[in-house]
Amino acid sequence: MSQRKRTSRKGELLVIALGGNAFHRHGEKGTFENQNRQIRNASRHLADLVESGYRVVITHGNGPQIGDTLLRHDAGQKMYGIPPFPMDVCVAETQGALGYMIQLALRSELKRRGLDQVVLSTLTRVLVDTNDEEMRTPKKPIGPFYNHNQIQKVRKEHPDYTFAYDKARGGWRRLVLSPNPMRIGIAEQSAIKLLVDSGCIVIACGGGGIPVIEEKGWHAIGIEAVIDKDLAGERLATLIRADRLVILTDVEAAYVDYGKPSQRKLGLIRASDAERFLKEGQFASGSMGPKVLAGIRFVQNGGKSAVISELTKMMNALGGRSGTTIIPDS
Ligand code: ADP
Ligand code: MG
Repeated sequence: MSQRKRTSRKGELLVIALGGNAFHRHGEKGTFENQNRQIRNASRHLADLVESGYRVVITHGNGPQIGDTLLRHDAGQKMYGIPPFPMDVCVAETQGALGYMIQLALRSELKRRGLDQVVLSTLTRVLVDTNDEEMRTPKKPIGPFYNHNQIQKVRKEHPDYTFAYDKARGGWRRLVLSPNPMRIGIAEQSAIKLLVDSGCIVIACGGGGIPVIEEKGWHAIGIEAVIDKDLAGERLATLIRADRLVILTDVEAAYVDYGKPSQRKLGLIRASDAERFLKEGQFASGSMGPKVLAGIRFVQNGGKSAVISELTKMMNALGGRSGTTIIPDS
């Protein structure tokens, strides 16, 4: 691996995890135009980072998009008898589509600024464990929000699906299994490292990565699950020995007593304090929970710090003036 400057912010290697809101504003239709506008907006912030000398590796969520993709396959079967693809293939579809859209938008923004970095997305498999506790109960919300009338119909059509009500955003959503990512596929590991070292802006582990299990120690097969992109982002950041893991979302920071009158923003916190808050249930599972957990894991695995920030406040957050920064205990 090439030498990295550790003293100056310039040349620092960041893994940026883009939340679903980077592509899809809640309440907005998931049209290509809407998503593309959001991605172009996110790309301006990413280009600011590149322009100021950071080296950047990108990962992204796919919550709304994987739900839409699954529904497209569903509708294709009902309307035209086209056999649907399994969930792992659908995750690969979202990696391809969203990765392509980021490539287009970010590359154009960089070129506009006279920067010439190559932006390349990689289809990334992520190994999970069938014995993981998380393989028992579906907990990850994906896809569209249904109102009370819509959910009756959807439940009838899919009696085997699990749904949960999202109080904060007011709607029912489908839940799927979301096992812990263990490691990135071996072939992808080498390719990602080579590309990063060559100065390429790599997009990897999109949508949490394509979930695979190993059979008989060598044969990888895809499974019906969606891995959390923040936890997969930690695996990516640890793999490439990134300086920082930066998780961008639609809230300014992680809060304790979130949504209560006693709500308090967390600024700089040590991993053990973050862990204590996580155990107390301060961060909702499936949203802020995995972000904090990813941050804790990253610093415990040797990372310098993990930052949770709102997209537009990222520069301030990197300077410690906004967001939540998780640092190692010592
Ligand atoms: P992303 O697409 O960026 O991963 P998520 O919806 O998964 O976004 O997570 C961000 C959401 O987490 C926020 O919009 C907020 O409603 C929710 N959230 C839950 N608990 C907390 C908390 N303790 N502090 C801040 N946000 C929280
Ligand atoms: Mg999320």
